[in-house]
Amino acid sequence: MEEKQSIKSLLPEELEEQMAQMGEPRYRAGQIFRWLHQGVASFSQMSDLSKGLRAKLEQGWYITKPEILRKQVSQRDGTVKYLFGLADGNSIETVVMRYRHGNSACLSTQAGCRMGCVFCASFDPARSRNLTPAEILDELLFAQADSGLKISNLVLMGTGEPLDNYDNVMAFLKLVSRPGGVNIGMRHISLSTCGLVPMIDRLAQEKLQLTLSVSLHAPNDQLRSQLMPVNRKYPLDQLIPACRRYFSQTGRRISFEYAMIDGMTDTIDCARQLNRLLEGFPCHINLIPLNHVEGSPLRPSSREQLERFQEVLLRRGQNVTVRRSLGGDISASCGQLRRQRIKEVSQ
Ligand code: SAH
Repeated sequence: MEEKQSIKSLLPEELEEQMAQMGEPRYRAGQIFRWLHQGVASFSQMSDLSKGLRAKLEQGWYITKPEILRKQVSQRDGTVKYLFGLADGNSIETVVMRYRHGNSACLSTQAGCRMGCVFCASFDPARSRNLTPAEILDELLFAQADSGLKISNLVLMGTGEPLDNYDNVMAFLKLVSRPGGVNIGMRHISLSTCGLVPMIDRLAQEKLQLTLSVSLHAPNDQLRSQLMPVNRKYPLDQLIPACRRYFSQTGRRISFEYAMIDGMTDTIDCARQLNRLLEGFPCHINLIPLNHVEGSPLRPSSREQLERFQEVLLRRGQNVTVRRSLGGDISASCGQLRRQRIKEVSQ
């Protein structure tokens, strides 16, 4: 017998195709899609389907359901962080952040990242694997159900490089923005990349209304290659033109993420170089105070230095903000819970 397939990864039109093959009416697809996006864990809960159809579905398909391995709630700002266990024993982190304009979920797109940025806790090439569209959707469904917080915005800024898992992330974006399901519009979604140039060009072709964030973190190749190995493959003279192409093709402003690392990326000279790099390009610069990762020699910039750096850019007319840091009391920096878990399990 063939192996069972994950039904939650299917788009409504793909479900319709399956229904046609099973000799079922089309509208069944819509019913199943709604149930799946409500987070039901078994076909038996799909009470408006016939018993016969439920049994047939059971034979060919399974419904993914992550297990909550750990949950942390920030006493300061209500940020909720989950460590979810997946069917194959791997684990991923998901964070729900509360803002005045609504709640936002930060989703992982891979279990363990392959990119190797030196300041990041998510690097884990040995255990890295792509998440399926259903697994990414599950982060949202189960974080929302468990926390009771209605999620209206999504950021693909958890563990993993979304553009390194391109097809599954595109399928997820289609799933999550469809009416009948969770139905979160593209304008409420941000996707963050470390700068995979060919994939930025591919994404531009999709003409989605989402916000593209590019993790820049340094204004010159020497420093950027030191922090982010991806820069050796796609240096700034390829990355920035790709960002310009993206803007001209989609009309969507790019948000550049810039981590403020004490004595490294936060000098006034760096601020001036950053200004020159992005001069005249309609974009947004988001300064992120570095999250300290256990065992790392890298430190966050002081508040004063952060303000001085921002001032240089503001004076030159750049659109620059400082990201508010949430969940400071719950090892908020992404990848840390998963790391702890791997350590515990392998002991
Ligand atoms: N792979 C994607 C998305 C995941 S990381 C990317 O690189 O953009 C989400 C953001 O958090 C990125 O901007 C990443 O560079 C940043 N980040 C990772 N570790 C960090 C840390 N310790 N402090 C501050 N930002 C960090």
